[in-house]
Amino acid sequence: VDASGPGPEARLPLRPGLEGLHPYGAPQLDVPVLLNVNENPHSPSEEVVSDIAESVAKAATGLNRYPDREFAELRAELSEYLRIESGVRVPAEQIWAANGSNEVMLHLFQAYGGPGRTAISFDPTYSMYPEYARDTHTTWVTGRRSADFTLDPAHAADLIRRHHPALIVLTSPNNPTGTALPLETVVAVLDAARGSGPAGPDGGHTDSVVVVDEAYGEFRRAGVASALTLLHEHPHLTVSRTMSKAFGMAGLRLGYLAAAPALVEHLRVVRLPYHLSAVTQAAALAALRHREEFIAQVASLRQERDDLVEWLRARGHAVADSDANFVLFGMFEDRHAVWNGLLERGVLIRETGPAGWLRVSVGTPQEMAAFTAALQEVDPR
Ligand code: PMP
Repeated sequence: VDASGPGPEARLPLRPGLEGLHPYGAPQLDVPVLLNVNENPHSPSEEVVSDIAESVAKAATGLNRYPDREFAELRAELSEYLRIESGVRVPAEQIWAANGSNEVMLHLFQAYGGPGRTAISFDPTYSMYPEYARDTHTTWVTGRRSADFTLDPAHAADLIRRHHPALIVLTSPNNPTGTALPLETVVAVLDAARGSGPAGPDGGHTDSVVVVDEAYGEFRRAGVASALTLLHEHPHLTVSRTMSKAFGMAGLRLGYLAAAPALVEHLRVVRLPYHLSAVTQAAALAALRHREEFIAQVASLRQERDDLVEWLRARGHAVADSDANFVLFGMFEDRHAVWNGLLERGVLIRETGPAGWLRVSVGTPQEMAAFTAALQEVDPR
């Protein structure tokens, strides 16, 4: 039997609101220099690769069994990593993980969003958030960031008071702008969130959950603190991280968060059983054993990022301050033409952010040389 092709027609009952929508994702093009999705440009070292291979081979001997549903060992190692990276001790029970921070976020929306509930964020920001809202029937409301892409606490507090959001998503460092929020701003939002959530079972207002998405947290500049340092005082705060960026493990799909025990309990209710495969757990544990190597690599990527910002500014570009592994730069009358000119020269960056801006990820020194050479040709000054 050959089941290929559309075959006979059916009128499938697609959910209203999903008609004509396209799946999210940047173009995956076969181009020599890929600087479009904020990946880590360094493939894992031979030591990391062989350690992962050995660990996965060992896990494979037990693949007839379901994996550890509570991924206890992985939580303990993520907790240890956060202690080393941020100086904050978060017990293993207060760590949650899933297949990329995308899925961690979806769990948050599944637990706290839903019909009649609202989540808010501040544009320009990561374009996946509205999709988590759509998929969980949560109303999505956006405020705005200021001209320098920071957040005005008074504007945030006003939006929170008006909408009683179940979830407030702060991205720091923000994608696509690279902006890290000062802790004072996060604290102001946490204070405004107290008693500003939707009505609880007793009719009184709950506290909005404040999610600080620190997918790019490890790339922050010296002197910028992680929101993890606020966790012990704010039980309605959660900080999410990922192994996709600093760890160079985007292909692994492992994101995680730190939060108060009660919040983690709520996420356990909505996850699918055995959502983290034994292969994922084994590979993540193996990569975490090499954390010192990744921490050193992040330091060199930060330096390259700062050099890139300086080079772009010296050419007269507007450049947003970046605490991430990418840089938003402009301003271009016709940004699409610049993006396309770079692509014609084998360099793929991202056409995203407010009008006139483009985003480039930090690559290897060779990739940065290709980017700067191509930009000088496309946009001579
Ligand atoms: N948050 C932000 C701000 C991001 O930019 C990304 C990826 N581009 C993610 C979360 C998701 O990352 P992952 O699912 O790979 O952990």
